[in-house]
Amino acid sequence: MSIDKIIGAGEIALSDHRSSQPTFEEFIRLAANVRVAGMLSGKAGIINIHMGDGKKNLDYLNRAVDETELPITQFLPTHCGRNKELFEESIKYMKRGGYCDFTGTDDPDLWEREYGEVRISKAIKRIIEEKISIDNFTFTSDGQGSFPMFNEKNEYIGLGMGKSSCLLEAIKECVFKEDIPLEIALRGITSNPARILALNNKGNIKKGFDADINLLDEETLDIDTVIAKGRIMLRDKLPIVFGTFEENK
Ligand SMILES: [Zn+2]
Repeated sequence: MSIDKIIGAGEIALSDHRSSQPTFEEFIRLAANVRVAGMLSGKAGIINIHMGDGKKNLDYLNRAVDETELPITQFLPTHCGRNKELFEESIKYMKRGGYCDFTGTDDPDLWEREYGEVRISKAIKRIIEEKISIDNFTFTSDGQGSFPMFNEKNEYIGLGMGKSSCLLEAIKECVFKEDIPLEIALRGITSNPARILALNNKGNIKKGFDADINLLDEETLDIDTVIAKGRIMLRDKLPIVFGTFEENK
C-alpha cells in the first residue's frame, strides 16, 4: 500500500506446473487483500494471473466470480492465448466482462505451429467478431524478462527472452494481416492497460498526461520518433539519447 510503484499482486501462477498450487481459499484471500489494499491506497489493486496450460484453465477465476463478491475486473489473467482450449475459455470469460491479456513472442509462427498458441492478431480479431468489449483486452511482452522453455515432459530446455519489440510486430499483424483498424489494435498497449491498471496519467495523448509518444511511419508502421516523458529519444528512426553503457555509434 505504501510503495507507489506497486499496484497489485502478480504474476500469481495458476493451472501451471510452476505454480505454488494455492488452494482456492488461499487464492481468494490473497485477491481480497489486494483489492482492499488497492481501495485504501487509490490504486488498481489488480491481481495479475499467470495462466499455464493445465486443464483447470480459468476455473479459479470463474469460481471467484461465482462464489465471492470480488468483481471480475479485479483480475487480469495473462498468457490467455497459450493454447486453443485456454483461449476458448478466455473468450467465455471475457463475455462475462473479464479482462484478458495476450502475450507476444518474437516468433509467433513457431509458437502457433508447435504449441497451438493463438497469436495476438487472431485473438483480437476473434474478440471483435464475438462483439466483446474492445476495452477488455491487453497484450504484453514480459518486457525483456526471462522466457523459460520446457519440453512436453515439463523438463526445462533453455532460457529465452520476452522481447518488447514483439508488441509493435503484433500491431503490424493486426493491421496488415487481419484488417483490424489501427486505433483498435493500439488499445491493447495504450489506453486499455492504462485504464485497467489505473495508471491515470498514461495511455492517452491528453493535456496533463505524460508525453510518452511514438510516431509511426504511416505506410510501414515502423517507429519514426519516440518521445518519452517529453524528451525526444529517437528521431528519423535514429536513437539520439543513449544509456550509460551504450555508445553513440
Ligand atoms: Zn507468466
